Amino acid sequence: MPHVITEKCLGERYGACIQVCPTEAIHPTSYKGQEFMVIDPETCIDCGVCLPECPIGAIVIGDDSPQWTKINAELAPQAKNNPKPAPRPSNDPPRNPKNKFVK
Ligand code: SF4
Repeated sequence: MPHVITEKCLGERYGACIQVCPTEAIHPTSYKGQEFMVIDPETCIDCGVCLPECPIGAIVIGDDSPQWTKINAELAPQAKNNPKPAPRPSNDPPRNPKNKFVK
């Protein structure tokens, strides 16, 4: 079961996870009109390196979110050629007031 990116990433897109993924499985995209990122289940090797990189805890193991597992898988094919975004500083406050720093 691959890791997946959840709704916390919507409108946030910190991008630190993209920098550390050894298989370049994480791609920027948009979802419902907001900046987002997805993990390609075809290339994710489930190493877990990305998980602690997200300052708001937007990445989970797919088993924990079947809904977002499906969305990541559906969006990945068209997102995989998108250029990598410049990462936001991990101490930049979340734009969505519902999001909180997890570390
Ligand atoms: S679990 Fe590993 S391979 Fe999968 S997206 Fe995260 S860093 Fe990349």
